[in-house]
Amino acid sequence: MERLDRLFEELKSANEDSLGYPAAKDFDYSAIERFLEFPINNIGDPFAQSTYRVHTRECEREVVAFFAEATRAPQDDWWGYVTNGGTEGNLYGLYLARELHPDGIVYYSEATHYSVSKNLHFLGMRHITIRSQSNGEIDYDDLLETLKIHRDRPPIIFANIGTTMTEARDDIGRIAAMMDRMAIRERYIHSDAALAGGYAAYLEPRPAWDFADGADSVAISGHKFLGAPIPCGIVIARKHNVQRIARSIDYIGSLDTTITGSRSGFSPLMLWYRLQQLGEKGLRERLARSLANAEYLVERLVGIGVPAWRNPNAITVVLPRVSPDIQQRWQLATAGDISHVLVLPNVGRDQIDAFVAELASSAKEDACKV
Ligand SMILES: *Cc1c(COP(=O)(O)O)cnc(C)c1O
Repeated sequence: MERLDRLFEELKSANEDSLGYPAAKDFDYSAIERFLEFPINNIGDPFAQSTYRVHTRECEREVVAFFAEATRAPQDDWWGYVTNGGTEGNLYGLYLARELHPDGIVYYSEATHYSVSKNLHFLGMRHITIRSQSNGEIDYDDLLETLKIHRDRPPIIFANIGTTMTEARDDIGRIAAMMDRMAIRERYIHSDAALAGGYAAYLEPRPAWDFADGADSVAISGHKFLGAPIPCGIVIARKHNVQRIARSIDYIGSLDTTITGSRSGFSPLMLWYRLQQLGEKGLRERLARSLANAEYLVERLVGIGVPAWRNPNAITVVLPRVSPDIQQRWQLATAGDISHVLVLPNVGRDQIDAFVAELASSAKEDACKV
């Protein structure tokens, strides 16, 4: 069909250049294409039985188990499922926090993803924005001062493990220790690790982002660092907390523990297949490549006089806002006075060199115009 052919070519070319959004492209899912023949549906809880048997729950459980280990979830006290993406995982974490602490206050930094304020609006949760430092990390002094003012309400910390624009990581260990010192026991910490959750476990030094550091739930996107043709993600939480809100539903013969009813059975299969192919070794290799190339990009940009930088161990390179032409050409996300490049595992030196060369020549053109 001509329309399809045209669309295919358009997407092919758009996909080649994009450098500014966190979607890895180095995947091949052709081996599981045949599963599109079935109306797969993982409705309900991945760990419970269901009357509907066209599902991939076993794969889903293995995917969740893989990330439970990577996030150092407590033995025998974790639960999770494959979501539609980071946003759903964050919504789940906040929902759980609200059920456990109905009068809690959510604290999050001003660099938090735009979807979070919408989630908080859905849930009707009281929330306070905390200042960010210039690198995008939460301002711990502002957080401490604000916590002191509201000591009568349980804090719910929404931490960023990789902010959207600068990939800054809030230190969950430091925040937990802060609350320990204030003798705040009733509390909840959610870790939004949409991008960095795909590799944070393999960074050295390891950032303070997971259950062992004090998180009560973690959300990760599957289509970002891992790479997938359909948006997806993983959410993991402490099981004893989830059990307090689970409800058994006769109609599906399962537990209604997830946000949506029907859930993709294809996404868990994708992630399972991806993890089978890559394993921890493959993830570590892809991370090393990304980190080395991110450093290379910073050096090349600084070399042509562009004051680019990145947070320690980040694969996101930040540069001063680029021209609309460059933004369009390379699909660079831009907010305020900065743009960023995501150096995912598929980004090679050739592409980096081409990008830097174009940036250099467009800067020269601009200089001539003045
Ligand atoms: C991408 C992102 C999200 C949203 O994740 P989706 O998978 O797009 O729903 C949330 N938080 C952060 C920090 C992100 O980078």
